[in-house]
Amino acid sequence: MNDGTWKVEMHPQRWGDPARAEALPEGARGLVELAFGLVDSPAAPPASPPAPGIDVTLLDELRARLGAAHVLTDDETRRLRTRGKSTPDLLRARGGDLTDAPDAVVRPGSHDEVAAVLAWAVEHHVAVVPFGGGTSVTGGLVARREGYAGVVSLDLARLRRLLAVDHTSMTAVLEPGLRGPEAEALLAAQGLTLGHHPQSFEFATIGGFAATRSSGQASAGYGRFDSLVVGLRVATPRGDVRLGAAPASAAGPDLRQLFLGSEGAFGVITEVTVRVRPLPEVVHDEGWRWPSFDAGAEAVRTLAQAGLLPTVLRLSDETETAIGLARPDEIGGQSASGCLMVAGFEGTAEAVAARRTAVGALLTALGGEPAGEEPGEAWRRGRYDAPYLRDAMLDVGVLVETLETATFWSRRGATYAAVRAALETALPGALVLCHLSHVYETGCSLYFTVAAPAGDAPLERWRAAKAAANDAIVASGATITHHHAVGSDHRPWLHHEIGDVGVSVLRAVKADLDPTGVLNPGVLVP
Ligand SMILES: Cc1cc2nc3c(=O)[nH]c(=O)nc-3n(C[C@H](O)[C@H](O)[C@H](O)COP(=O)(O)OP(=O)(O)OC[C@H]3O[C@@H](n4cnc5c(N)ncnc54)[C@H](O)[C@@H]3O)c2cc1C
Repeated sequence: MNDGTWKVEMHPQRWGDPARAEALPEGARGLVELAFGLVDSPAAPPASPPAPGIDVTLLDELRARLGAAHVLTDDETRRLRTRGKSTPDLLRARGGDLTDAPDAVVRPGSHDEVAAVLAWAVEHHVAVVPFGGGTSVTGGLVARREGYAGVVSLDLARLRRLLAVDHTSMTAVLEPGLRGPEAEALLAAQGLTLGHHPQSFEFATIGGFAATRSSGQASAGYGRFDSLVVGLRVATPRGDVRLGAAPASAAGPDLRQLFLGSEGAFGVITEVTVRVRPLPEVVHDEGWRWPSFDAGAEAVRTLAQAGLLPTVLRLSDETETAIGLARPDEIGGQSASGCLMVAGFEGTAEAVAARRTAVGALLTALGGEPAGEEPGEAWRRGRYDAPYLRDAMLDVGVLVETLETATFWSRRGATYAAVRAALETALPGALVLCHLSHVYETGCSLYFTVAAPAGDAPLERWRAAKAAANDAIVASGATITHHHAVGSDHRPWLHHEIGDVGVSVLRAVKADLDPTGVLNPGVLVP
């Protein structure tokens, strides 16, 4: 069994592998200075979290059950399980604010031990925050503390096995604590892949993907994570739930959907059965250029509705094309007009060749101009690098954050314009970039990146800008989140999307599965 440690723990004040932390590349420095000015803004030295506020005799009970090595209260472990990795989370960590640190980190080693932790939490009224990779960007890892005997982080890092593979049905059973690369390596040894590659892939986990209904960069080909899930096992305060007895079913409403996206508020996911595919023989990326975002978006819609999607499909708007076309170390070195589309193809050599020919013919007929392989290959090389650049920008006093939504094709233009205007009004002088990705026959996701001078009160300024963007999103009839989930940040907007009856259904499910409210209080359920 895994001992619960990872080869690389994320930096407590930055994104990702501490060894990959870098200063802003020279080329980008000039551009950033010109746009925003450079203000040296180093992080405060790592602070100590407040002393654990839980009665130690309660933790001793847990130690007797899990073993002392798996109930931890040291500063370093608690610091690493404090909040997620949104820009506000990073700003607080950089400022030395660890007030949301859990009182203890507990690492159960089996489904039964997860259930035992929940029983203990119910008995003593302790809040439990399930913790996967810690990459939440919506406040999903900050539980309400008031009224509880303490807050523990339930770290799933010891549940990291591939439990079973069914090569005939093409399914695999994975434990929730596996990070993306670990899960892919275990599957690759069997000639298989999940094909789920969000930008947080290197650190996020299988359980987290399910609990947030994550969507990866190759969602056009492999599908969003929830569409890959065939079955689930969940530990709840009311008992064990196993779902997914058949590939499809008419046995009432699909209860798997209650736990997909439940963000630790209804139970702890302890096993995920996923649909898998053969490892691709061929991976080919290419770029296409469009005169405008509208023209490119219409082409994406046409591909989706013709059933001719590549595996990866993303279209940058004019600003993102000009700024982000080059690799991060070359930003400022070149710029381009129009809009860049990246199309990636994966599969057998035959299938990739056939799909490329069909997609290429359609895109050419629609007015697209082939831009060769380099833009696609550069995108793939740098696909996990942007979050490191965000830290380098924070170091020079520039606030960078992202937000996302999805909407129907008929509202795409209006939603894009409304969110952009809201952000530009709330943050004068901000640079707002957008790309379209996660494409469906009926619509698409819009993913915005915002850069602005951090100024004196970056948290307050971002809170106001994000609220303005959320208001614009709901006013335009789009979803409050396509793949980042609700957490505590989007919770005040959820009722606009699901209405009073929807809210009361969520509350009723919560009351039934978690009657004393110990699971991730303050997250998801309004
Ligand atoms: C730089 C960056 C890039 C990102 N890119 C993407 C992207 O491309 N696509 C995308 O979809 N998301 C993206 N995200 C968001 C984030 O990575 C996803 O939400 C991810 O699915 C969370 O997985 P995790 O293992 O880190 O979960 P955590 O952050 O640990 O937890 C997320 C939520 O799920 C709950 N949870 C975790 N594990 C379980 C479990 N086993 N049972 C029950 N509840 C659980 C937690 O309590 C919490 O509420 C990005 C985030 C960052 C910081």
